[in-house]
Amino acid sequence: MKTISILGATGSIGQSTIDLIARDPSRYDVVALTGGRNVEQLAKDAKALGADIAVTCYEDCFADLKALLAGSDIEVAAGSDAVIAAAQRPADWCMSAIVGSAGLAPGWAALTNGNTLALANKESLVTAGPILLAHAKAHGATILPVDSEHSAVFQALVGEDMASVERVIITASGGAFRDWPLEKLATATPSEAASHPNWDMGQRITIDSASMFNKAMELIETKEFFEVSPDKIEALIHPESLIHAMVGYCDGGIMAHVGPHDMRHAIGYALHWPDRADVPVERLDFAKIAQLNFKAPDLARYPALQIAQDVMRAGGLTGAVFNAAKEQALDGFIAGDIGFMDMAPVVAETLDKMSSHPGLQNAKFTLDDVLNVDQLSRIASGEIISARR
Ligand code: NDP
Ligand code: MG
Repeated sequence: MKTISILGATGSIGQSTIDLIARDPSRYDVVALTGGRNVEQLAKDAKALGADIAVTCYEDCFADLKALLAGSDIEVAAGSDAVIAAAQRPADWCMSAIVGSAGLAPGWAALTNGNTLALANKESLVTAGPILLAHAKAHGATILPVDSEHSAVFQALVGEDMASVERVIITASGGAFRDWPLEKLATATPSEAASHPNWDMGQRITIDSASMFNKAMELIETKEFFEVSPDKIEALIHPESLIHAMVGYCDGGIMAHVGPHDMRHAIGYALHWPDRADVPVERLDFAKIAQLNFKAPDLARYPALQIAQDVMRAGGLTGAVFNAAKEQALDGFIAGDIGFMDMAPVVAETLDKMSSHPGLQNAKFTLDDVLNVDQLSRIASGEIISARR
């Protein structure tokens, strides 16, 4: 019996994880489920899976969650600290699928158990990559990638020596505006940006796909997780999104990972690792697919990719600035305060403004430094957004 916790259980990744676990309940013993405003779903899943505790990160949702779980023996808690405490409860396997930088501290807490952390929350690696890996190592914990591209790289590296890796290619669908005229992008709306051609994901990550801020995050994530130098990491537009990533080796051979558009493959790989087990995803029919296309990304359309290269080269806490500014810019776009093509300049200006912050590029920093820089960067980008209104 594997003990399991799911952080961000009510979200897109959390629900896909529950889908896999619910198919085979005799193998899993659920410890903690955490969510946010969607307390109906949280309560329903906590009951169905027999969780020990259900936690909402919002204190004002406590009464509703409590009422929904009245009569059950499931513990109920609320607030950010309660999410961290739940993450720290011993469990063999923990899914980190909270959205945004709020996912960092709970994932960090889960690692102190020396367990396996299935990491979907890419912000954890972008903001705190080196110290997160060191923290996992210090506690004898294992981090497994869940982001589809990183799961693909991880799988393409099995049995290989990192020293023979020449390049890592991360593919991108190109997002909702891949084929839009460049001049039309300035007037794109949040609902237009939130419709993805291939993947069904949360709203924020879908808009980040249209701007390629998601891909920018993933380039940084690749550098941090696999400890690959930035000049070996490339993004490639692949509209079919069937090859998720490729690893090129020094003998010219390239291992490509191919799979359907279904996050349950990457989640299932992390759930069963180091074994493989049956996962109910579509089996690809290559004769029907017939053709795969590729295109180099245009940096005028996707300025986030250039920013990612700069962030990777700067290192230290620059990733934390980048992520905070990106989240603020996205909030600004969703709220209608800035346009779609204003997001990259807001992030670039925030990086510029924060560049004088003492110790920003130091390789040694703490979790508190990350949280502090996150707050300061949000203030800086908030001011930049206000000035643009
Ligand atoms: P969703 O927005 O669908 O779900 C986010 C989850 O986090 C929900 O359970 C939500 O609760 C909860 N949550 C929101 N805010 C907070 C907070 N402040 N503190 C604690 N919990 C909170 O996100 P996704 O599932 O799409 O993404 C989760 C993570 O996985 C992200 O980092 C994303 O980049 C990454 N990822 C997602 C992929 C996908 O296909 N969706 C693919 C690869 C990576 P509630 O909804 O109840 O309010
Ligand atoms: Mg991805």
